[in-house]
Amino acid sequence: MAERTKYILDEADLPAQWYNVVPDLPEPPPPPLHPGTREPVGPADLAPLFPQALIEQEVTAERYIDIPEEVRDVYRLWRPSPLYRAHRLEKALGTPARIYYKYEGVSPVGSHKPNTAVPQAFYNAAEGVTRLTTETGAGQWGSALAFACATFGLSCEVWQVRASYDQKPYRKLMMETFGAQVYPSPSDRTAAGRAILAENPQSTGSLGIAISEAVEQAAADPGARYALGSVLNHVLLHQTVIGEEALRQFELAGDTPDVLVGCTGGGSNFGGLAFPFLREKLAGRMNPVIRAVEPAACPTLTRGRYAYDFGDTAGLTPLLKMHTLGHDFIPDPIHAGGLRYHGMSPLISHIYELGLIEALAIGQQECFAAGVQFARTEGIIPAPEPTHALAACIQEALRCKETGEEKVILTALCGHAHLDLPAYGAYLAGDMVDNELPDAALEKSLAALP
Ligand SMILES: *Cc1c(COP(=O)(O)O)cnc(C)c1O
Repeated sequence: MAERTKYILDEADLPAQWYNVVPDLPEPPPPPLHPGTREPVGPADLAPLFPQALIEQEVTAERYIDIPEEVRDVYRLWRPSPLYRAHRLEKALGTPARIYYKYEGVSPVGSHKPNTAVPQAFYNAAEGVTRLTTETGAGQWGSALAFACATFGLSCEVWQVRASYDQKPYRKLMMETFGAQVYPSPSDRTAAGRAILAENPQSTGSLGIAISEAVEQAAADPGARYALGSVLNHVLLHQTVIGEEALRQFELAGDTPDVLVGCTGGGSNFGGLAFPFLREKLAGRMNPVIRAVEPAACPTLTRGRYAYDFGDTAGLTPLLKMHTLGHDFIPDPIHAGGLRYHGMSPLISHIYELGLIEALAIGQQECFAAGVQFARTEGIIPAPEPTHALAACIQEALRCKETGEEKVILTALCGHAHLDLPAYGAYLAGDMVDNELPDAALEKSLAALP
């Protein structure tokens, strides 16, 4: 077979269904609990926050969910996304490994986030919701939801972590261009924000605080709902278009992956790529190693505790059984803003506990070195988050160089860095530091688990 660089599917090959991995797992994940009663939450508990269709998807036992035609129409703006073979990176590394990457930077905002923002906005609009609230860190999720809300005629309000709001004006301008309102978090618009500001007027915020603010606002307005960009089952469900397309593209390539690698913040791009391959693995049709990569400064899977915790700082969300660093943990300000969340998707956490995936943590300097090498060989500047996955790909490819193994490696290149170039600036100037997380800081935040 001639070795191509780029595998492109026809629009007709756009997946018609999302894949739900839960019914294929040897045991189901533990349910979310009501923080007051400690009983499993019911649909009525979630109704003030999410539309009915998404609540159903959150708990569904169906293996496949039809993607609405209105959503597929918007997906066609950029999907199916390309799968590339990284010939030039392989050559630069001198590895016999074959490296492939599924590129999600072709979306309107430059990441995988619109794969779920679009259906979330669609279902809310279909149920008569007029206003969505959300949080964002570096701004990838906020800009994806702002785009999706513009598409379906919803108003959109975004609480952006203060540190990013001040340092990264371009994402805010993108959100505003799509018509969203953007507030720095903590803000004085919510009780949760005011409580944090009373304690520390200089607070630079966190995703957990911004979630509290957005949830509080949505819960108080019957015409509003809240949207989350990662972590929850329905979000990972929507992202499985990535893996379903990649499976077909591997058929075109006549190849089968031995190792899948993805970066994990809340787990959505990783789950989106990995779950369809995990289905194939559980059915015995292939046997890839599946590996999650997280930042050493926010090592949820590798050093966090598997316990019930809140999804936000103020304790407004249901309790989720997940790998967590503690809901008031505030990670060091590393450049991969999308990987700075204190928890991990309950579904990914459960699958990790079942031993179906591996995890490792890597410091940001090694990651940016990988990002620069990738940019100089493949011509795409990776977002800071997927540089973590690329660093792990390079580690694997270099092991293959030593052993002579011709492994096939697949990663999700879940976004580009066109609005994150100051991070590369810091790396190139030699100003980047590795923030190892001290045990004492971790013990302190874990002591506050509910
Ligand atoms: C948000 C984001 C992440 C982290 O979120 P996941 O849910 O773990 O995918 C990673 N990469 C990019 C480009 C992002 O925008």
